[in-house]
Amino acid sequence: MNEVRVRFAPSPTGFFHIGSARTALFNWLYARHTGGRFVLRIEDTDKERNTEEALRVLIDGMRWLGLDWDEGPEVGGDYGPYFQSERQAIYDEYLQRLVDAGRTYEQDGAIWFKLEGERYTEYDDYKKAEIEKVRAAPVVIDDAVRGRVERAEARDFVLVRADGSPVFHFVNVVDDIAMGITHVIRGEDHLSNTSKHVELFKAFEVEPPVFAHIPLILKESGPGKMSKRDAGALIDNYEERGFLPAAVRNYIALLGWNPKDDREKLDIDEIIELFDFSGINKGNARFDERKLSALNADYLRELNLESFAFLVRPRLHEAGLIPEDMDEDYLQAVLKLCQPKARSLDSLGELCDYCFSDSFEMDAKQGEKLAKKGDPKVLLAEILPILEALDTFDADGLQSALEGHAAAQEQKVFAYFPALRYAVSGRAGGPDLLPLLAVMGRERVLSRIRAFIV
Ligand code: GLU
Repeated sequence: MNEVRVRFAPSPTGFFHIGSARTALFNWLYARHTGGRFVLRIEDTDKERNTEEALRVLIDGMRWLGLDWDEGPEVGGDYGPYFQSERQAIYDEYLQRLVDAGRTYEQDGAIWFKLEGERYTEYDDYKKAEIEKVRAAPVVIDDAVRGRVERAEARDFVLVRADGSPVFHFVNVVDDIAMGITHVIRGEDHLSNTSKHVELFKAFEVEPPVFAHIPLILKESGPGKMSKRDAGALIDNYEERGFLPAAVRNYIALLGWNPKDDREKLDIDEIIELFDFSGINKGNARFDERKLSALNADYLRELNLESFAFLVRPRLHEAGLIPEDMDEDYLQAVLKLCQPKARSLDSLGELCDYCFSDSFEMDAKQGEKLAKKGDPKVLLAEILPILEALDTFDADGLQSALEGHAAAQEQKVFAYFPALRYAVSGRAGGPDLLPLLAVMGRERVLSRIRAFIV
């Protein structure tokens, strides 16, 4: 078999939608799986929308997800230019071939593609006019995902508009031919265009590529596909919110593909190895933010502490929670406790702000709840002298001191934990308490207890 050549062919709109990212990812995976080439082709024929900035969003998003392309903008290649806006000479040449083959005609200033088949006219209610139709032989598409799809084009269609601009169907097919594309992997919304495309391939006497139309991504709840306004739809947003690219990529891979077992967290090398058309679902995929967050948390937990701290530090600093020169050892000690609880990088501040500053919020509701089980001030006043007398302020030391005291009071040691946690953090949950107190240190912990009980 010839070398696989796939392409991602976005029209830059200023948004990098999760659906586009998924199309890019599936093409990239297929190229990497087969050892083929992944081409990035920019379909920028709409001059108004296709700005430099819109292209940037796309390229940055692709790079963030780690989807490197073998040919295309910033990379080059033998089949360029990779911007449709720079390929006019190629379109002219291909149009001439159709003209020479007698497959075009001009009408109302536009150039039309002439289908083969018997012609007849039919009254069109919408246009309120007789229109010409064609009985063309149905086009058969052996879609690698959808299976056999048959569809007959019933009317000639425009190749070049009256203003001279070529239409999508024409340039899309010309480029796929000229760039030697072997497999077209794209969203199911293009399935209905494919019969036009196959007609064009036939007119150029070129074997069409293999088509693989991938299912839609539905919004989190309710009917309809995900639009750019839906939460979670835009890739740059994940970067801002502190998601890890590997987690987002893993999640997107599962939107319409599965490894044929129940696994969800898969290493990218493994996804590449397993990725194939047979694993792509026919049914639509539904976006699920909770699943994405859970995957992201898994990836965050796996980071080594140094990398984790490296990613978290600038976010805490930006949020005004730590100074620029924050002590790395203390930061890492705190983060080590928080890492198991982290869901995304930008939610870390909420988990550990009180470790860095005395001005944190006391959750009033939790305070009331706590008071219902007995006055926490009384409990804390009881144990303060014991903590003050501790030789080594570490988790073991705290544990045995508190246990000793609890036993004497015929209490369980846990009876003291909620009040302790509340006094030092203002909340009801968080990392393991005693290791947390040990990391926060004697001075901080004791002064918070003292301040709480006055
Ligand atoms: N520019 C088209 C799109 O963004 C490309 C379609 C295709 O992949 O053939 O939908």
